[in-house]
Amino acid sequence: MTVEVDKESGFCPGVVSAIRKAEGELKTRRTLYCLGDIVHNSMEVRRLEELGLVTIRKEDLEGLSDTKVLLRAHGEPPATYQLAASRGIEIVDATCPVVLQLQKKIRRMYEAEPDSQIVIFGKHGHAEVVGLVGQTDNTAIVVEHDDELDKIDYSRPVRLFSQTTMSVEQFRQLCVEVGRRMKNPSDLQTYDTICRQVANRIPHMRAFAMRHDVVLFVSGRKSSNGKALFEVCQSANPRSYFVSQPDEVSADMVQGAESIGVCGATSTPRWQMEQVASRVAQWSGKNEC
Ligand code: SF4
Repeated sequence: MTVEVDKESGFCPGVVSAIRKAEGELKTRRTLYCLGDIVHNSMEVRRLEELGLVTIRKEDLEGLSDTKVLLRAHGEPPATYQLAASRGIEIVDATCPVVLQLQKKIRRMYEAEPDSQIVIFGKHGHAEVVGLVGQTDNTAIVVEHDDELDKIDYSRPVRLFSQTTMSVEQFRQLCVEVGRRMKNPSDLQTYDTICRQVANRIPHMRAFAMRHDVVLFVSGRKSSNGKALFEVCQSANPRSYFVSQPDEVSADMVQGAESIGVCGATSTPRWQMEQVASRVAQWSGKNEC
């Protein structure tokens, strides 16, 4: 039996950079507050908490002052920066540059075209989407499902953006449907703002899942990217299992398999996939590659 850890799985650059910033800060101070989970992976969060990272909610910001707070890769709306400034809180900004660029693009559009409707294809309540909507003084229309398309006024210009982690295919379908409904199709401008760090992993992950007898997909349960990539594995290989930590892997899962693939989400640390691979390799006493 062989066990292969997917070389392309694991943290995306935005998450790597946020974690490095946190680790760097924690070398010089005992405590660093982080607004929301730094990554949707409870084991990695726990590791950083042991170094002094303290995860807080937005409500907690009001009770802090004269300290440092890290903003994670998803980004935050302008109101968070304003609140921090009013409390004397220094921001350690780990907003991913891809998200930051999208925030600026939406802000510029909102300011330059007051008559246009900014529409964001994204998940309601997701931190990145909250940050994007905040660029428009909370006036942007969020569309997650087709049945929300009636919220758009098709007689007015529409500027359609996407949250960075949405499906490219679904965004394309949405653009076609919105274009079909427009009174004047030239009033629609679409911006594919999907991060290729996620999108480009899909064909690779499909091929990886197909070449193994069993796939162990490692991810935190809160990760939406994890759910989406797991579905890709499952559709390519029905013997795909979602595990959030090594001890969830059982011998039954890998019984009879000659090749096992271990992969994960953009929020899955490499060490966690390696722990899963070692556990499986120990049972078999065979190769790990
Ligand atoms: S998925 Fe892309 S946009 Fe999101 S944090 Fe990672 S690199 Fe940045």
